[in-house]
Amino acid sequence: METDTITAISTPMGEGAIAIVRLSGSEAVAIADRLFQGRDLQAVDSHTMHYGKLIDPETDEVAEEVMVSVMRAPRTFTREDIVEINCHGGLVSVNRVLEIALESGARLAEPGEFTKRAFLNGRIDLSQAEAVMDLIRAKTDRAMNVALKQMDGRLSRLIQDLRQKLLETLAHVEVNIDYPEYDDVEEMSHEMMKVKTNEVHKEVEQLLETARQGKILREGLATAIIGRPNVGKSSLMNALVHENKAIVTEIPGTTRDVIEEYVNVRGVPLRLVDTAGIRETEDIVERIGVERSRQVLQEADLILLVLNYGDEFTEEDAKLFEAIDDMNVIVIVNKMDLEPRLDIDRVKVLAADHPVITTALIREEGIDQLEEAISDTFFEGELDSGDMTYVSNVRHVQLLKQAKEALEDAQHGMEMGVPLDVVQIDVTRTWEILGEIVGDTVHDSLIDQLFSQFCLGK
Ligand code: GDP
Ligand code: ZN
Repeated sequence: METDTITAISTPMGEGAIAIVRLSGSEAVAIADRLFQGRDLQAVDSHTMHYGKLIDPETDEVAEEVMVSVMRAPRTFTREDIVEINCHGGLVSVNRVLEIALESGARLAEPGEFTKRAFLNGRIDLSQAEAVMDLIRAKTDRAMNVALKQMDGRLSRLIQDLRQKLLETLAHVEVNIDYPEYDDVEEMSHEMMKVKTNEVHKEVEQLLETARQGKILREGLATAIIGRPNVGKSSLMNALVHENKAIVTEIPGTTRDVIEEYVNVRGVPLRLVDTAGIRETEDIVERIGVERSRQVLQEADLILLVLNYGDEFTEEDAKLFEAIDDMNVIVIVNKMDLEPRLDIDRVKVLAADHPVITTALIREEGIDQLEEAISDTFFEGELDSGDMTYVSNVRHVQLLKQAKEALEDAQHGMEMGVPLDVVQIDVTRTWEILGEIVGDTVHDSLIDQLFSQFCLGK
């Protein structure tokens, strides 16, 4: 099959000592060969790497020292001929290599186009392609493992098993419709349909249950830092981020914008939100911050409530405790270096089951204990990224919900005594919806949309 040859930088920008410019398509080897001095790339074995020099066709001068890998179709990521040019990681160097590849006849790849080709050429299925995207965006090692497993085809296999189950049941019903004279076949079909839809329903529900944790691994645990002005919220955020991105200030109430930051706390990805503190105020500008803070609270998976050890427990503090009563909270008593004015025992009573951690952020004390508490709340109980298949993709979750509803329609129908050939319609629909997860029944526009979300070069 003839394909135009695409190229892009396929390593992250500005990182690492080595960068890779990748070419894929029918002309990949021919184009690379024209640029390369050292070996006849058209003649080398597939899956071999060669040292040489890259020639700028405009000036005929040596542009770069490179290592070039040649991989012939179909044993490649895209199932097309692929050439990877390894060059120095600097921005200037790698851009020059890309420019030369473009001058020599390759076309700049659209975002996600390599992966799209892999999908279209049957190398990977849709959920695997989406996993590649998750991998690129993975915030922590654990999130990466989830994506890797998905890419490995775990979710796909699970979904295909469920589809197979439904298909067999549907085939059975077909037989029943074709040979209505066998009463016992009808009995069996009815019973089988019930059992199989129940089985599949249960598995779909279990997959949906993993979605919340999958979402956290993928998008981060939405974490709100709350407390009165000046207690040390920004300092806490900075301590966790290890960078001064949030504004730290002496003036109470000056953190007006909600700032977001990602951090990796012992494998738990936190999406930190620094808020202006929820409290009543007359200041208009501040109120915007306060409104948003309330909203953030509603959406938070974890709340870090900060108190000041050097200050009396106030009415505002009490209100904060009320607001977060049934949420996932860690109480932090900061400024332990100051003269005590806060009654810690009272705080512990109010905190009830929530952990209370003491810190002196100004001296970088207590951060380890806090990080441990964060990781404990998350990994407590069932979550263990070891052997589970997580559903972490929004599209997959939506489709699973639809599949669940279709199955429930079928179950309901059977309870009501609806004939099997009608129930069959809902089961067929379930089979189709599940097929969309692995890409068997998707439309072109969806595919374009999905792949356009990829980073360039993947
Ligand atoms: P926020 O208004 O809640 O965000 O509080 P900030 O993080 O902006 O901190 C307010 C002030 O308290 C700053 O001057 C910090 O340096 C100071 N601060 C933060 N942590 C501590 C601490 O543990 N001890 C003392 N003494 N001061 C602290
Ligand atoms: Zn602040």
